[in-house]
Amino acid sequence: MSTRITHLIGGRDWKGVPERTGEVYNPAAGAVSGRVDLASADLVAEVAATAKAAARNWADASLTRRTRVLFAFRELLNQRKEEIAELITAEHGKVLDDALGEVTRGLEVAEFACGIPHLLQGGYTEGASTNVDVYSIRQPLGVVAVISPFNFPAMVPLWFVPIAIACGNAVILKPSEKDPSAAVAVARLWTEAGLPDGVMNVVHGDKEAVDALLTNPDVAAVSFVGSTPIARYVYETATAHGKRVQALGGAKNHMLVLPDADLDLAADAAVNAGFGSAGERCMAISALVAVEPVADRLVAKIKERMGGLRTGDGTKGCDMGPLVTAAHRDKVTGYVRAGIEAGATLVVDGREGPFDGDEAGFWLGPTLFDHVTPEMSIYREEIFGPVLSVVRVPSYDAGLDLINTNPYGNGTAIFTNDGGAARRFQREVEVGMVGINVPIPVPMAYYSFGGWKSSLFGDTHAHGMDGVRFFTRGKVVTSRWLDPSHGGLNLGFPRTD
Ligand code: NAD
Repeated sequence: MSTRITHLIGGRDWKGVPERTGEVYNPAAGAVSGRVDLASADLVAEVAATAKAAARNWADASLTRRTRVLFAFRELLNQRKEEIAELITAEHGKVLDDALGEVTRGLEVAEFACGIPHLLQGGYTEGASTNVDVYSIRQPLGVVAVISPFNFPAMVPLWFVPIAIACGNAVILKPSEKDPSAAVAVARLWTEAGLPDGVMNVVHGDKEAVDALLTNPDVAAVSFVGSTPIARYVYETATAHGKRVQALGGAKNHMLVLPDADLDLAADAAVNAGFGSAGERCMAISALVAVEPVADRLVAKIKERMGGLRTGDGTKGCDMGPLVTAAHRDKVTGYVRAGIEAGATLVVDGREGPFDGDEAGFWLGPTLFDHVTPEMSIYREEIFGPVLSVVRVPSYDAGLDLINTNPYGNGTAIFTNDGGAARRFQREVEVGMVGINVPIPVPMAYYSFGGWKSSLFGDTHAHGMDGVRFFTRGKVVTSRWLDPSHGGLNLGFPRTD
């Protein structure tokens, strides 16, 4: 049976009749499991008006009240995390364990946001001038839009929403139309947590809904996560409409393995970071840069580990699930063909299976290429699937140059036992998030997540203090409470003596 997935507006399910709907699949079954309503531009305008009205009151809610709602939300999310993980697996395909992991990482942002009274503390200077005090405050923006990708249907919205709400804003979330249910389930918890209606809204949709958000005058800011071409478009369109924008884009993450590295650790890391979530992670490792002479030994160790991986239905305790749609699976297998045609060595061919799931599922097993060179499309482009490419380089400098020449700069990792080399790498590499003997260096919630170069358009990263700054505007107040003896005119520039 196909379920209807609809918008959540002003705390309630939308009761209207959609002009358009989209299909949602269970990727492990290869079958349609639901239909999602796709919002029209007019509906987005209505939601923005609802959110704007709610934002005014919520901005006035005391920090004590906001914090109580945040703590209640955190508790509810923790209680329901298994249910939410099941929704993710059913529509995205990732294995249950991994789905639970993403909810847990999102939960950490909610926990960070519970500290909002402390995070919003300003500065105060008494007696900056005679009888003059100066202080800084941070105020909410109003209505903010969050537009998220398919690959983390719960975690990516959670990177932004708790902090936006804690800062006193109202939110319109536009989740991916490919796996929209988890975002709605999480959004419902806000109402249960006592958040006033209209502060948290979900609209589903595609380009029409996104464009309506990017151009709506009631929307003050946009947090976007998705592929680089759309991130660039969102940044350019929304900033042209006067909005504050952070648009996180795609990635091509390199793992540099130096000859002195622990090769067992490096091989485990390459397999985990290359094939976890079927490579559909913006922090997945897709290029393994092996500094010779380690490549032969490293490739052998990776191949051996890949032999033990089970690909199949995410509810069956497998290591890796299907890809999100048939079209995406076909795109990724197209890259496998392109790699072979370009002359790379196909060490493990994931197209062959076996797959522990329905035959109609969108399967592709872990795939390994060796002798990949930088001009090949499997190296140049973001594949976003379980395809790992090994590029052999003669030296650390050649490896670093390869990484720094790449247009993306999301995440990277170095594997070495040489602290000096690691330290040099962290300094020289032009990438926003760096792992040292850590393959997927996703920062903790109290640090900020974001890449460099074509992996991020805008100035602020997600969550941590960058998140608080993004969702607030600074104001500095200079105040004088007059001493009764004050008086006189002075047209000169204010002085501080
Ligand atoms: P996507 O760019 O196709 O979609 C992202 C969002 O944009 C969705 O909500 C979608 O509905 C909307 N969208 C799609 N096409 C649009 C258009 N033409 N106009 C306006 N809006 C449009 O991305 P995806 O396939 O859902 O997600 C995978 C991508 O996201 C990968 O490139 C991955 O690297 C990236 N990603 C990046 C990060 C990061 O932190 N940098 C995190 C997760 C995913």
